[in-house]
Amino acid sequence: MKNIVLFGPPGAGKGTQANFLKETYDLVHISTGDVFRYNIKNQTDLGLLAKSYMDKGELVPDQVTIDMLGDVVANNPDANGFIFDGFPRNTFQAEALDDILKAYNAEVNAMIALEVDDEVLVKRLLKRGETSGRSDDSSEEIVRNRIKIYYNETAILKSFYDQKGKYHGVNGVGDIDTITQRLNAVIDTL
Ligand code: AMP
Repeated sequence: MKNIVLFGPPGAGKGTQANFLKETYDLVHISTGDVFRYNIKNQTDLGLLAKSYMDKGELVPDQVTIDMLGDVVANNPDANGFIFDGFPRNTFQAEALDDILKAYNAEVNAMIALEVDDEVLVKRLLKRGETSGRSDDSSEEIVRNRIKIYYNETAILKSFYDQKGKYHGVNGVGDIDTITQRLNAVIDTL
């Protein structure tokens, strides 16, 4: 099983790249943000709860997110591996992910981070907001709050995985194909 945490600030291109990687390496792509948005669309209890946090650009409570992720992993017993996109977002979630995978005799093999400058991110996210219908992409204040939370709460995960020798930074600026090739070059060494 090959399990990859695809990491990087909002707007770094994780979703776009995950779509290529899952085909190339036959992995299941789990985006916690997408699962929340699906639940919001279908007006589930989980969706209603998540929406109150997501609308402000804040994180959904850890245990809610961890339970949801554990369910998605459990529902894919034949997976070759996973691309975790948007999860973990803090150390508590990272430790929970280790526990979830341990139950399958598996582990996170690598965290691959797409590195993109803040001002490029703000521009990309606001542009995406013009067409995506995502309310958390439509206001500069909320976009900047999400980037701030990433640096305050999430970026610490870089050292969590670095200490285990699992962190790989990849330049996330350039055309989509070039970035995919950079990611493939890292995954091929795992
Ligand atoms: P994303 O699509 O990854 O940008 O996530 C959109 C929003 O979903 C985030 O701003 C959070 O409100 C929520 N979310 C996604 N993943 C997580 C997570 N791992 N922990 C807590 N909240 C999350």
